[in-house]
Amino acid sequence: MKRSSGPIGWINFSNKTEHIYVWGAGVTGLLFGYYLKKNGFNFTILEKKNRAGGLIETKDTAFGPAETAANAIFADENFLILLKELKLDYIKAKSSLKKKIFRNNKFTTFPLSFFEIIKIFFRLFRKINYHSNMSVYDFFFPLVGKRVCLEVLASALNGIYSAPIKELHFESIFGISPKSKTYFGFLREYKKFKKTNIKPYSISFSKGMQAFISRLENELKEHIILDHDKSFNQFERNIICTSAKDAASIINDNNISNLLEKIEYSSLNTTTVFSKNRIHDLQESFGVLFPYNEDSSLGILHNSAIFNNRVKDSTYSSYTFISKNDKNLDPYKYLQSEIESFPTSWKKALPIYNLERIKTISKIRATFYTNQSQLMLHGNYVHGISLRQIHNNILEVFK
Ligand SMILES: Cc1cc2nc3c(=O)[nH]c(=O)nc-3n(C[C@H](O)[C@H](O)[C@H](O)COP(=O)(O)OP(=O)(O)OC[C@H]3O[C@@H](n4cnc5c(N)ncnc54)[C@H](O)[C@@H]3O)c2cc1C
Repeated sequence: MKRSSGPIGWINFSNKTEHIYVWGAGVTGLLFGYYLKKNGFNFTILEKKNRAGGLIETKDTAFGPAETAANAIFADENFLILLKELKLDYIKAKSSLKKKIFRNNKFTTFPLSFFEIIKIFFRLFRKINYHSNMSVYDFFFPLVGKRVCLEVLASALNGIYSAPIKELHFESIFGISPKSKTYFGFLREYKKFKKTNIKPYSISFSKGMQAFISRLENELKEHIILDHDKSFNQFERNIICTSAKDAASIINDNNISNLLEKIEYSSLNTTTVFSKNRIHDLQESFGVLFPYNEDSSLGILHNSAIFNNRVKDSTYSSYTFISKNDKNLDPYKYLQSEIESFPTSWKKALPIYNLERIKTISKIRATFYTNQSQLMLHGNYVHGISLRQIHNNILEVFK
């Protein structure tokens, strides 16, 4: 079966003996490897660097853990089952924390005014003029208006997708093409679509996200080759779990590689700081999100409020400052002095979930229908950025 959602391409999984090569030992490659092992396949994970984990790594600093990418997993029932199978203990994020957004030069808690709430209520019965190319902004503007779109919704999405709301493709972000005629109907439809047995919640591990990577790596140790020098052979069975750019150079096939090259990525800079000073406006808060703006600030996470074990000395606080480049969102502006900082800079951090991406992915899928080789592509550019989505897409393959 050639797939129309989830990982791109096809492998004949009814044949368990022929070898499978998984390219990349980031979380996608490791998760694929885990289910290949569980289902009795013969496989090797090839990693070009000298460590597994890809974007995800926890620096074990003298002050506490500092993450280079994902800080948490928004874990659903499937993810919790996986952690149980791995016998890996996790810690839950504190649930009572307030999420703030940056508005009028302040960190504010409830971002809607009374009049905006009333207006939204009456607009719930407006007709949706849906078309499949719609951006998130185009979809929500008739319901919530310009300000709420650009300040509130944009802040929430900018913190996850690091792209402007006018560029983000509605269906790629929400995973649904609405059938309802009104916004009221859509909200009910979306609630039903999202319904799960256990409501997802944010988790991490006492030593940080590296614990998850190390556990998978240990489980798969006989199958992983670090610093590999193998060349791609299209007559073998391959699952490529790298970024789109790296997948393009591995496959080196004009048609597919040219398309993969078109997927755009945003840069990101994350700096985890430990300080005896506190950001008072973020006490008892998850952190703050910034709307998409010129100075490219995305958010500040209050790590030591979200999870226990984020500071070795309880007189310190831990924050992660996330921005598009390192010129902005200066920790000193908020914490003045006494800062120990651990920065990470990614030139190509996250794929941009715009309309171009979904069109390109559709074209790549179509190319695969005429392609006879056993090849699969998966990663955060295909069908969801988060670890939860990457994992669920892999589970679909093994159903
Ligand atoms: C700053 C930041 C914060 C984030 N926060 C969250 C969060 O809180 N929660 C969440 O769920 N997600 C979060 N994400 C997203 C999540 O971290 C990523 O989507 C995920 O880690 C991507 O994993 P991956 O394995 O697909 O790709 P990668 O981590 O990029 O791994 C790809 C691997 O392929 C290897 N590779 C490349 N070329 C080759 C080759 N030729 N041969 C072999 N190997 C090769 C690379 O070396 C790398 O190890 C965040 C991302 C960033 C950047």
